[in-house]
Amino acid sequence: MASIGFIGLGNMGLPMALNLVKAGHDVMGHDLSDKQLATLSEAGGRRANGLDDIATCEVIVSMLPAGKHVAQIYGGEEGLIKKVKAGTLLIDSSTIDVATARAIADEAAGAGLDMVDAPVSGGVGGAQAGTLTFMVGGPEAAFEKAKPFLEVMGAKIVHAGDAGTGQAAKICNNMLLAISMIGVSEAFSLARKLGLSDQKFFDIASTSSGQCWSMTSYCPVPGPVPASPANRDYAPGFATDMMLKDLRLAKDAAQSVQAKTDLGDQSLALYAALSEDGYGGLDFSGVFKRINGDI
Ligand code: NAD
Repeated sequence: MASIGFIGLGNMGLPMALNLVKAGHDVMGHDLSDKQLATLSEAGGRRANGLDDIATCEVIVSMLPAGKHVAQIYGGEEGLIKKVKAGTLLIDSSTIDVATARAIADEAAGAGLDMVDAPVSGGVGGAQAGTLTFMVGGPEAAFEKAKPFLEVMGAKIVHAGDAGTGQAAKICNNMLLAISMIGVSEAFSLARKLGLSDQKFFDIASTSSGQCWSMTSYCPVPGPVPASPANRDYAPGFATDMMLKDLRLAKDAAQSVQAKTDLGDQSLALYAALSEDGYGGLDFSGVFKRINGDI
């Protein structure tokens, strides 16, 4: 069993850290919130006494809000890359910009450390159940070293390629998800206005060429898919503001490589307007309400 330093015990990080505790690892947590640290301690983990304590661990996992937090924790003179001992494995599971992920990975490689970017999909439910999908970027050797730890927290572990490709996979997937959710929402709204019932349109489209995950697993209208957030007034799930964050990362990444992402840009504008109007906490499938003229 390994000593693991876990940084960022939020909605995702805490249940992920708890799964590492349950698997028998010695987990030391670091967070700005006392409450989260107390929950980890009660469950058999430990509270780190700052980053110097975390630096003594064999494996370090981070689950932080954005690239600036990851850069601050790992990079620079005061960062973990300078503090840890040789052989420490670094796993960043936050969803961040590709450029920061690559810069930190370069710094780690320069110090002779194994590091992977390993963002996740599966949400809080997946984090609790230990069924997350990890999209992993980094050298093969670092991936193989990280895999047994990721398997404790996830059900599907995919090596996407070199450093940064885990983040690239994550933001490309989520840009596609936003576009497909908007497409499904437009189709349901139009079908309704043309006199089709939601269920009838679902029965037809879900077995026709319009079928996709946004329709069959996460349907944005109440009724056809009982587990979808539409049936609980669009309580998240995956909030509009989280989708907005990922769409902004996708747009920045697209600009950096001159990729054409017109529908990604339009999706970003639609989700940004929803957020500005106070609906940032609504599940991202709540975009149906905006398209249908309900909000
Ligand atoms: P969160 O805001 O609930 O948790 C972030 C945690 O990091 C907080 O507890 C905060 O106190 C801590 N933190 C911030 N700065 C810190 C610092 N300098 N040192 C120590 N701790 C610090 O966020 P979350 O929902 O857990 O998401 C974390 C990451 O996972 C994000 O990058 C997000 O995009 C990604 N993600 C979230 C979901 C989801 O459904 N929530 C799904 C997939 C990916």
